[in-house]
Amino acid sequence: MKGQSSESPVFRALGGRDPSKLFGDLPTPCYVIDEGQIRRNCEKLASVMARTGCKILLAQKAFSNYALYPLISEYLTGTEASGLFEARLGREEMPDREVHVFSAAYREDEFTEILRYADHIVFNSPAQLKKFGERAKKCGKSLGIRINPQCSTQEGHAIYDPCASGSRLGTTRSVWEQEMTEDLLSLLDGIHFHTLCEQDADALAITIKAVEEKFGEFLPRMKWLNMGGGHHITRDDYDLPLLEKILVKAAQKWGVQVYLEPGEAVALNAGYLCTRVLDIVKNEEKQIAILDASAACHMPDVIEMPYTPPLYEEQNGDGEFVCTLAGPTCLSGDVIGTYELCRPLKEGDLLLFGDMAIYTTCKNNTFNGMPLPDIWKREESGKMVRLAAFGYDDFKHRLGCKR
Ligand SMILES: *Cc1c(COP(=O)(O)O)cnc(C)c1O
Repeated sequence: MKGQSSESPVFRALGGRDPSKLFGDLPTPCYVIDEGQIRRNCEKLASVMARTGCKILLAQKAFSNYALYPLISEYLTGTEASGLFEARLGREEMPDREVHVFSAAYREDEFTEILRYADHIVFNSPAQLKKFGERAKKCGKSLGIRINPQCSTQEGHAIYDPCASGSRLGTTRSVWEQEMTEDLLSLLDGIHFHTLCEQDADALAITIKAVEEKFGEFLPRMKWLNMGGGHHITRDDYDLPLLEKILVKAAQKWGVQVYLEPGEAVALNAGYLCTRVLDIVKNEEKQIAILDASAACHMPDVIEMPYTPPLYEEQNGDGEFVCTLAGPTCLSGDVIGTYELCRPLKEGDLLLFGDMAIYTTCKNNTFNGMPLPDIWKREESGKMVRLAAFGYDDFKHRLGCKR
């Protein structure tokens, strides 16, 4: 037997209840966001803030279902944005909290509006700091620059490694030498780095050493140090004591306010994708269930990263029946994964993928004219609330104006 639902952290929030009883009435495909799990994640993050004095922001690019922002803002310091729209969303939907923004390059025609929403603005290069810094400073913004400590701590996912060679993300020490004049340096309130992805505190320990070696001399002049995202803090086996040691030490040593801006960790294991089997097709090698959900459209990281998403039926079965699950689009590679199930699948069966709150609802697409899944919230009381519904118009309006 594989682990029971109550043991699998991915589905623990369901408390062992039968998904088809909980979600069987919902039209599929649909995402369900688990409010209780968002709260538990936020409680853990808030406990790190309380013990270390650090401030934690929600990185909205991973999760931006703002119906949950009032809950999240009970715990976290604010939001982090990748640009104008996310900055505006953070300001609108978490209005009393901090808004931080980092973009690889700001546009002249957007910057004035960004100044309306953002508290902290992080630049990617000395040239961008030079172009926009004084204007932002005059508006009372806290300014930072993103550094590249050139310290890779991850293998395998080069597209998620901002320290991979040739990276455009962050200023390296040699570029800093060439371009960071004393005038520019005097505009800076903080230093930002983001180099991790789904990693533990040991990787942060290695990174902070590299940061200190390359940029340590500037840190005592800074008010804050933002250590980015990629910290898998809410994972069961994450090394919290080591993280907290690093945070406390950095704050003391350099006299800085430490920030973290995780995305994943805020909504880890806090969502599901419900889908139904449309057909079972066979070829010489295997059985393939065609679902009404698509990897390419509805869980793009399955293909981009790539990874095989956790499936409730597999984690709770004994693996007799092997079946490949795939999407209904024309893309040959729209394959979600091959699973060991405890029963043969048939048309109409409800399946549940786990950990589907992050990098899904904010990253999906309508390739092939696929409908976007509705988004539901499972409240802590168990009540189901629909947050969003999509249809043909959402597909059509992205392609042209209504006549
Ligand atoms: C992606 C990103 C984050 C959040 O990363 P997670 O892996 O979701 O924690 C935070 N800050 C920056 C600058 C990012 O690019």
